[in-house]
Amino acid sequence: MTHIYNFSAGPAVLPKEVLAQAAFEMQDWHGSGMSVMEMSHRGPEFISIYKQAVADLRELLAVPDNYKILFLQGGGLGENAIIPMNLAGLAAQQPATVDFVHTGSWSGKSIQEAAKYANVNVAASSKAAHFAGVPPVSEWKLTPGAAYLHICTNETIDGVEFQQAPNVPAGTTIVADMSSHILSRVIDVSQYGVIFGGAQKNIGPAGLTLVIVREDLLGKALPICPSAFDWTIVAEHESMYNTPPTYGIYIAGLVFQWLKRQGGVAAMEQRNIEKAALLYAALDADDFYQNRVEPAYRSRMTIPFYLRDESLNDAFLAGAKQRGLLQLKGHKSVGGMRASIYNAMPIEGVQALVNYLNEFAGR
Ligand code: PMP
Repeated sequence: MTHIYNFSAGPAVLPKEVLAQAAFEMQDWHGSGMSVMEMSHRGPEFISIYKQAVADLRELLAVPDNYKILFLQGGGLGENAIIPMNLAGLAAQQPATVDFVHTGSWSGKSIQEAAKYANVNVAASSKAAHFAGVPPVSEWKLTPGAAYLHICTNETIDGVEFQQAPNVPAGTTIVADMSSHILSRVIDVSQYGVIFGGAQKNIGPAGLTLVIVREDLLGKALPICPSAFDWTIVAEHESMYNTPPTYGIYIAGLVFQWLKRQGGVAAMEQRNIEKAALLYAALDADDFYQNRVEPAYRSRMTIPFYLRDESLNDAFLAGAKQRGLLQLKGHKSVGGMRASIYNAMPIEGVQALVNYLNEFAGR
């Protein structure tokens, strides 16, 4: 049977071991006689699952003690509204100004949504350069007294990744959308005020949203902020103010345990460097394929590429599918192809894709 490798941008591939364990435990979790889906979120069984997941994530990302880890619903786009509703109150003057760096589709969506709740300043944009990179930080026009600065550290559609936290003036609160590369590389959480992301790429199933927030940023929510999305209330209730996405938290917890068995985030980052290098080398071998991102900003996780002759797109995708290489079609807004190679994509999957890229190009 053909081995299947799933390159979806999200919901995306999960570790086989995690799926097998979840299947094994589906009807009876640890002898409790219940599926995790059937458990009260306030019962001792689920509380133990939740506490372990939070502790493991804290360990994996070395989250300092003065940060809260919150599990919510609403997804990345939900957060685009929830963030300004929670943080606009931090601005020196009201109505608040919020700074953004526009590096692709997802930061663009964040800008549009935040404009409903605050004045938006686009401090820098790579739009005119077709989102091929990140404008140099020295050119960012930050607003003195802004509530915060929002960046998307991996643009899932455009394939642009920040290789480190931007070096902004001290006191700038950075809010980072890490939906599509969280846990793929070592980060210094203390450089950010808020880190958030939907789970459905590197963490678990869709429906779970992760927020990591520094404690001193809490307590400033706008009165219109729904209570279930007021981080202060959610933090006070340890993510149990309303029913959290319990099954998503359980799967995320299994993924965190799997990551620890793999050697943690630093070990995963080394593998991700290797995987990305392998794929970019095949894309760059000649001009049959094209990745249009400046090398310094190329994503290790979500890699868009184009065939020089786009009339071959359908044939490329059909051949890929025959070989078990699934979901390589690019996002509809940009066309072309995209290979998402998250933590759970083994190097064998990338090698299989590279073999096919070479074969299709007649190399
Ligand atoms: N931000 C980024 C970087 C994303 O990749 C996505 C989804 N692909 C979103 C936000 C939106 O997330 P959701 O669909 O969970 O609302």
